Amino acid sequence: MADRAEGLEIVLDDGRRLIDAVSSWWCVAHGHRHPAIVEAMRRQAEKLPHVMFGGFTHEPAVELARRLAEIAPPGLDRVFFADSGSISVEVAAKMAVQYQNALGRPERNRLLALKGGYHGDTSLCMALSDPDGMHVLFKGLMTRHFFAEKPSIPTNGAWDQSGADSLRRVMAEHGNEIAAIVCEPIFQAANAMNFYHPEYLREMRRLCDEYGALLIFDEIAAGLYRTGPRWAHERSGIMPDIMTVGKALTGGHVTLAATLASARVADTISAGRPSAFMHGPTYMANPIACAAACASLDLFAASDYSAKVAEIEKAFREGLAGVERLENVADVRILGAAAVVELKGMPPREAIDDVIDAHGVWLRPFANFAYSMPPLVSDASAVRRICGALADLASREPAPEKDDGGFHE
Ligand code: PMP
Repeated sequence: MADRAEGLEIVLDDGRRLIDAVSSWWCVAHGHRHPAIVEAMRRQAEKLPHVMFGGFTHEPAVELARRLAEIAPPGLDRVFFADSGSISVEVAAKMAVQYQNALGRPERNRLLALKGGYHGDTSLCMALSDPDGMHVLFKGLMTRHFFAEKPSIPTNGAWDQSGADSLRRVMAEHGNEIAAIVCEPIFQAANAMNFYHPEYLREMRRLCDEYGALLIFDEIAAGLYRTGPRWAHERSGIMPDIMTVGKALTGGHVTLAATLASARVADTISAGRPSAFMHGPTYMANPIACAAACASLDLFAASDYSAKVAEIEKAFREGLAGVERLENVADVRILGAAAVVELKGMPPREAIDDVIDAHGVWLRPFANFAYSMPPLVSDASAVRRICGALADLASREPAPEKDDGGFHE
């Protein structure tokens, strides 16, 4: 039972304190309960907690849109606010389809996504996530989209053109049906924990331009410095047409996400019929959430988060050195403030709980992945403790294989 939280720690109702090694599913960038964000939310709650965003706008939304456009890749200056990461991906996909429709190409109503990807838990997002991943139970609810093989060349590996063969093949076969390609740039997080090569993104951009498809980058997990640069795709030097941002946007204080688009996408939609973009959730651009996000972006602007992440990466590399030699370890990979210890078999629930208690470190492994994506303000001693917990977990006996029908927590 979580009672409160501060900084790097979650405090349980019995007084125990756990370092949050997963920054509460990767959103608590500046630490829990940051005073500047809490204060911004409190002030906004006293003034205007909510107002509908159809017909009205308000200062925190105007300010946040302006700030997002400033820090986004150049040209992505049209902003749509959504209530969660999943919704922002749905919005991105709908924008792509409405854009193609406005150009007189209604047959382009499918997307191309990557195996190993994850884009959220609503039905369209599930349909864009790894088709053999955690959502298999719900296949019947999903529209069929196109998939390329999981990118297999690592971020710092040697690029080989054949690494994008499958992408080229699907585009050659179905390019005229595809409204957009969508991917998590560089870091496929919740399904595959896979770091891949920036050249893959450059190839995507080329193919999108060749076939008239839009390019959507889902930066919800990897964006806002998680892998080092502000946006993970910066390593590739190319730009998407649409980009989603969430999770760390409010520093993990309240739900909010945004879909950013280029003027070309927005203006094409506005010139079509209907001219309004067809999405309007009740809590769109909630003022408290926008105020929290503005305060969070202030914090990102006030110090060098790439440098903080470089320190975390260094501490992970030192703290996990040698772990790859443990018998139950299949692979160790680290990029920025994300460290993945891929196991051959996951230890049982009781062993995971025991590691959490013994080290005072909150871990939430899934499938065969023991991993950490800590708050970006974590110091070296916190990262050392996290590495100790990961190494301990990797040393435990794996649970006997169970057939979970493809599901994993
Ligand atoms: N896209 C990516 C890349 C994500 O990692 C997630 C959440 N793990 C989502 C979308 C969905 O975001 P939310 O959980 O806020 O709906």
